[in-house]
Amino acid sequence: MNGSDGSMSSFILALDQGTTSSRAILFDAAGQIVASAARELPQIYPQAGWVEHNPDLIWQTQHDSLRAVLQEAAVGPEHIAALGIANQRETAVAWQRSTGEPLGNAIVWQCRRTAARCRELEAQGLAATVREKTGLVLDAYFSGPKFEWILQNVPRAGELAAQNDLCLGTVDAWIIANLTGHARHATDPTNASRTMLYDIHAGDWDDGLLALFGIPREALPVVAPSSGVVGHTDPAVLGAAVPIAGIAGDQQAALFGQTCWQPGHAKNTYGTGCFLLSHTGEQARPSQSGLLTTAAASANGPAYALEGSVFVAGAAVQWLRDKLGVIATAAESEDLARQVPDSGGVVVVPAFTGLGTPYWDPDARGTILGLTLGSTKAHIVRATLDAIAFQTRDVVQTMQADSGVALQELRADGGAAANALLMQTQADLLGIPVVVPAVTETTALGAAYLAGLGVGFWPDAATVASQWRVAARYEPQISADERESRYATWQRAVSRARAWATH
Ligand code: ADP
Repeated sequence: MNGSDGSMSSFILALDQGTTSSRAILFDAAGQIVASAARELPQIYPQAGWVEHNPDLIWQTQHDSLRAVLQEAAVGPEHIAALGIANQRETAVAWQRSTGEPLGNAIVWQCRRTAARCRELEAQGLAATVREKTGLVLDAYFSGPKFEWILQNVPRAGELAAQNDLCLGTVDAWIIANLTGHARHATDPTNASRTMLYDIHAGDWDDGLLALFGIPREALPVVAPSSGVVGHTDPAVLGAAVPIAGIAGDQQAALFGQTCWQPGHAKNTYGTGCFLLSHTGEQARPSQSGLLTTAAASANGPAYALEGSVFVAGAAVQWLRDKLGVIATAAESEDLARQVPDSGGVVVVPAFTGLGTPYWDPDARGTILGLTLGSTKAHIVRATLDAIAFQTRDVVQTMQADSGVALQELRADGGAAANALLMQTQADLLGIPVVVPAVTETTALGAAYLAGLGVGFWPDAATVASQWRVAARYEPQISADERESRYATWQRAVSRARAWATH
């Protein structure tokens, strides 16, 4: 399908609608980036703890970046074989089906307005049911309670629901609606699995949960496979009817883009925080330790993953830069840390906002231990990078215990994966190789792979996997004894940081 006469479709277009930006990336048949464009998305903070996006701006920034990337590459829409979408997860949008008009701002995943409602449901003893059916913990992040809030607080939503003229959806569904000229209302299992309304085992919206949150089934999108044609772009939008053939929430898209398709394949995204996902095959693995069980994107039938996160990772490097002022750029953290052979006994526990997996301690606070008169800023910076790797080990260890599968390697992406010292430290502390791919835009790449496989642009997964390239591979370089001794020191430091804010 990638003929050279120019009459055939030669490219896959991936849209990456993120929390702070809308991006569009054009990939060629070799899975290489041809061109990319991004538009910033404004954040709206109507009151403390609330976060919103304007749905019209979500679409406008996405549409602008889409047109810009085609213009930059001088590629017409007739040369796009398929379009794939990766998106910020859990963010809730409501609109009128017949007109496509949004009913107000989107409620962003970070928004805490439904926290009290989630605590109330927990007090009613519903956490176990929610976990069993959806794989999620009862937290305000997820979309179901946000949809409930809209139905209860936006009078027009109830009116439209009564007339069967209401659409509720995550950002992928909103983008698809706009791309298709409001002909389709569709999502995929990875996005559906973050709503708290979707039974991940049955692969369908759950009537009990719909009743609990008062959500009419008719308002929700059809759940289509992550890979396969779900609709076509309205020619008025893109200039041609291009198949939309890939959909996944951003973290699952990255897992797919890292070609983690087998049980025990895992990726970690080192951004502000870390998102670690481990594929568990066709088995949904329940967690004993507060990890999420979630749908993984797949090109052939249902697949699952376990997901854990670290609250503060790259954010600790930002703290060194912006609050301590010991570095001018995030990249400088590597140069400074390399000035010392190790942290000199200093341990930083960056529990600025408490600790997540597996401690779940909201009262833990940031701590620097082991300081002596010989400690320098280089030691503190090095210990901060170590802490990102230690926290990742905490999650990996929990995941291995829950899944019963040992990881063979960890694939890394995100901004801080550019830090070679951090990646080496990570390999050392995990005792497995850490692999950084050549294409670090793994989220968009995953959406592109799903779309390309969905239309036969790439004949099979093996072809895609054979194109995937490694940029750097970090092998563990310390002994098992040293690894365990360093980890024991980390755990001792964590115990000092815990429950600090309760006094
Ligand atoms: P997000 O998507 O969460 O905004 P990114 O993937 O863009 O995050 O990564 C940005 C984060 O990575 C920032 O917190 C920054 O401090 C950190 N970071 C970027 N480059 C480096 C580096 N070379 N070393 C350590 N941390 C880095």
